[in-house]
Amino acid sequence: MKILIIGAGLGGLTMAHALKTYLPQAEFKIIEKSTSLRATGASIALPGNAVDAFKYLSMQEQILKTAHPISKIRYLKYNGKLLSETKLAEHPILKDYQFIALQREELIHLLAQDILPHIQFNTVIKQYTQQDKLTHIELSDDSHFTADLIIDASGVNSTHRQAICGQDLREDLGISCWRFLTSRKTADPSYYLLSPNGGLGLLYPTSGNQSYVYLQRVQEKDNYSTDVDKASLVRFFAKFAPELQEAIDSTPTEKIIASRLVSVSEPIMTDHKSTVFIGDAAAACSPQLQQGYASAIEDALTLAWSLQAKPQLEDALLCYEQLRLSRVQWIKNASDTPSKSSQALIIYFQEELLPRKSERTAPSMCKAGRLYWKKIT
Ligand SMILES: Cc1cc2nc3c(=O)[nH]c(=O)nc-3n(C[C@H](O)[C@H](O)[C@H](O)COP(=O)(O)OP(=O)(O)OC[C@H]3O[C@@H](n4cnc5c(N)ncnc54)[C@H](O)[C@@H]3O)c2cc1C
Repeated sequence: MKILIIGAGLGGLTMAHALKTYLPQAEFKIIEKSTSLRATGASIALPGNAVDAFKYLSMQEQILKTAHPISKIRYLKYNGKLLSETKLAEHPILKDYQFIALQREELIHLLAQDILPHIQFNTVIKQYTQQDKLTHIELSDDSHFTADLIIDASGVNSTHRQAICGQDLREDLGISCWRFLTSRKTADPSYYLLSPNGGLGLLYPTSGNQSYVYLQRVQEKDNYSTDVDKASLVRFFAKFAPELQEAIDSTPTEKIIASRLVSVSEPIMTDHKSTVFIGDAAAACSPQLQQGYASAIEDALTLAWSLQAKPQLEDALLCYEQLRLSRVQWIKNASDTPSKSSQALIIYFQEELLPRKSERTAPSMCKAGRLYWKKIT
């Protein structure tokens, strides 16, 4: 079987590992539109289901060696007042899973090991035609590739998905966010919950003796700019805990990554002919549950297993869709619903994450754990 993977991001590289492990006879090539590996986003948190899945790719040990283990989650009011604390080792379900954080650059380079010879950088699809069950592809360097299967791992802005669906499935969630690494090492991940002005902050230690800061605010798309205006960021988060303010203050503007939260309105797993979608190309969602890459790993493994189990391609694609679609829809809804408005976010944190007063005396059993329980089911 000949396979073309579009995109050498986290999803595409993981797919390559899954193919090497479970379909060693398949011939695959990855095309990547950038001139080198992209590791934008500073850091990434990987919940239990992601860490667990690495076992099936024989990569868990290596990832754990690099990553920073997370042992405790704290929810605070935006001004720093502690609302709840969950020790993961004491949690009835989470104690059996590992929750880690690592710098994206380290993760992408770990994943790219052994895969680099398969990647053709600076390349996109120029055009393609379908004949019988094969897709004849002309690439931007004028070379040709004939594929039995195209795996679209090109992320939320996938142009291939748009061509196949005939419409743009992207959905702006109305939230701007900023991410950066800071050299101040913090002890535990701390979620600073919604301020009256619609701001939210997250601070957690990551690999390489650094900490990661994530900030978001509800904001009209027209008022958002990719150019970081540090003064307005400082002003907006001025009422937040001093730890967050210091991190913003001490970070050079050029180190701060600004973006919008964008999701896919309807998940799509396959066209049932010659293309499958994985990762953000299938179902990008808000990072609220930190399930984006976790879901991409599950996609990659499920697809490789489906291709291994079903000799006919159509059967394998159907099998992949049946195994993934409802879960992907659930992850998307659980992640995106709280992001739809600042009111929805407030309700989400009040109702879903924070323990009720009566539960606050038993943090290990408190409702705060439900978020993480959700992450691993
Ligand atoms: C603010 C934020 C925080 C997040 N935090 C977390 C977290 O803590 N944990 C977590 O699990 N997830 C998190 N996510 C989600 C996670 O980053 C994504 O789910 C993950 O990166 C998706 O990987 P992907 O390979 O599908 O897409 P991408 O990472 O977008 O990779 C796509 C690749 O395809 C390439 N490409 C695009 N178009 C083409 C083309 N036409 N031809 C060739 N190549 C192309 C791109 O250059 C890129 O390299 C977060 C997301 C955001 C926005």
